[in-house]
Amino acid sequence: MPSAPLDILAIAAHRDDVEQTSGGTLLKMAERGHRTGILDLTQGEMGTRGTAEDRAREAAEAARILRVCWRSALDIPDGRVENTWENRLKVARVIREQRPQVLILPYWKGRHPDHYTASKLGYEACFLAGLAKLDLGAAPHRPFKIIYATLYYDIRPTFVVDITSQFEARFRSLMAYKSQFSDQEAGKDLFPAQAEIRARIEAMARFYGMLGGGTYAEPFLQNEVGLVEDLLQIPVKSI
Ligand SMILES: [Zn+2]
Repeated sequence: MPSAPLDILAIAAHRDDVEQTSGGTLLKMAERGHRTGILDLTQGEMGTRGTAEDRAREAAEAARILRVCWRSALDIPDGRVENTWENRLKVARVIREQRPQVLILPYWKGRHPDHYTASKLGYEACFLAGLAKLDLGAAPHRPFKIIYATLYYDIRPTFVVDITSQFEARFRSLMAYKSQFSDQEAGKDLFPAQAEIRARIEAMARFYGMLGGGTYAEPFLQNEVGLVEDLLQIPVKSI
């Protein structure tokens, strides 16, 4: 697949996960001229509301709003994301084809097994993607940086990305999933009303925004320590 390599690829278990956890960051990076992409591991066939076809259409619309260059969904069963050899190869193949420098994965703990399994699966796929002797039909490649989107889990992030200017578009990208988020009878006990969703999303973004000294932000975690050249350029006020 000889398209230009992506700068940043976000991988998540379900269509709409990326919109919720790192959509503002992806849009911000696209606005800075970086090539961004999204890989959804599943197609959403187990969702209480709508079909996999509905979700494919909605995911394409969300991708347009977030200005991503590339989006695809694997055929891993929804509700059954397993860290198997076969699934690792599927993800490794995408990493080789899209050649991202930065990979965004879900945080490795959480309520939904698909979410935390996607984290491990993504990490181990990166490892496989770099193995020279593993024949996957594309040249070996590993991302330089792996960061974890932590919004779904209550943990202190190691950094946040200010998405104040992207917040409204990010909310629209989530609302593009009309089959999921428009007010309706099916799954009424499972899904909050749209006004409530807006309030929750705004509260979360404001909380992380406040930690970063801005209005709205998205939280991330990196395993490595931060490297500093100039102490005068460290952001976020201490006192
Ligand atoms: Zn999900």
